Amino acid sequence: RLGAAAAKHAHDPAAGGKVQQAHKSINLGQGFPDEEGPDEMKIRVGAAVFEQSNQYPPMFGVPEARQAVARHSAAHSGLAVDWQTETLITVGATEALASAFMGLLNRGDEVIFFDPQYDAYIPLCIANGGVPKVVKLDSSDWSVPHDQLAAAFNERTKLILINSPHNPTGKVFSTEDLQFIGDLCKEWGAYAVLDEVYEHLVFEGSKHVSLRTLPGMHDRCIRIGSAGKTFSLTAWKVGWLTGPPALISAVAKAHQFITFTVPSAMQHAVAYGLDHEASFYRGLGESLHKKRLFLEKQLMDVGFRVLPAQGTYFLVADFRPLVPDDSNEDDVQFCQRLTVEAGVTALPVSAFYASKDPPRSLIRFCFCKDDEKLQQACAQLKKYF
Ligand code: PMP
Ligand code: GLN
Repeated sequence: RLGAAAAKHAHDPAAGGKVQQAHKSINLGQGFPDEEGPDEMKIRVGAAVFEQSNQYPPMFGVPEARQAVARHSAAHSGLAVDWQTETLITVGATEALASAFMGLLNRGDEVIFFDPQYDAYIPLCIANGGVPKVVKLDSSDWSVPHDQLAAAFNERTKLILINSPHNPTGKVFSTEDLQFIGDLCKEWGAYAVLDEVYEHLVFEGSKHVSLRTLPGMHDRCIRIGSAGKTFSLTAWKVGWLTGPPALISAVAKAHQFITFTVPSAMQHAVAYGLDHEASFYRGLGESLHKKRLFLEKQLMDVGFRVLPAQGTYFLVADFRPLVPDDSNEDDVQFCQRLTVEAGVTALPVSAFYASKDPPRSLIRFCFCKDDEKLQQACAQLKKYF
């Protein structure tokens, strides 16, 4: 089932990567930062290997990591959680998603997703017996179509997945939208999986609000975080889940048989980071905002239309103004041409759509890159167009 679901995605991400490598283009495709997280955390991995046990850590995570996740939750989202019953450490947000779907879904349960979306969701949902219902965000400004969303809910709806701040658009869901979504969950008895891995990557003037903080939603939501995003250490693959005990224990039953546990040295280092490196992740939004403003201005100068965003390290641009009116070039072809002829790699946004008829003139740039690299990419684009 997973293979069939993955095959539905029109594009092979690895194929794009090969073209990028073959042409040695500047890679603004896959989302990973050039600047890595705190050295102190790296040192703690080594220290933990020597100072702590190297045998299977507890299934839910080492107490130090679970306690740090609970403190982080209270400090940054205002959600106090009991570390012993309301936290679970996972192998990245990816395993948190897989365990959530496996632990919470029964065969035939419906799950609501927004398009565009992070590519792991639908294959994991289908592989675990879920039936995806996809609602398209308005691709002119990424607003939530309230009528279509309301129509997607019914008595079979088990879950809705909310990814805010959102990959690939950079959208941060407004409190009004979250209230609307929360009211639908309450009306239909549905739960929400909150992929909040980019919770700290929010620009000045915007605020990330978790659906779990809204009235009546506390026991209906599980929240997912990621050390990869919080500390710019995407290779570490440490994630966490917080939520009400009943949901966490259901998800833990799946986690028990997917990975059982998470490398302990990484957990200890992440615990240290959550407690002592807040300045790192608190500063991320501001430094990324500067990069976003730079790239946005340069792309607009080149002639792209840039779509609005309030966070993350992704920017979506419309290339329609750069091609003749009668052009049939789609986003995949445009990205190939950009890689081969301009030496800059971006991703086709249609790859993030599960539903039919995705927009075909939008591309995603990842901008958590060194300033020199961004400047060079923009210079190459200016020269090319
Ligand atoms: N959710 C979203 C929205 C993401 O962008 C990513 C990372 N690409 C993940 C989950 C997976 O995070 P991790 O690397 O911690 O598994
Ligand atoms: N989340 C990152 C992105 O959207 C990369 C994750 C991956 O390559 N699987 O680019």
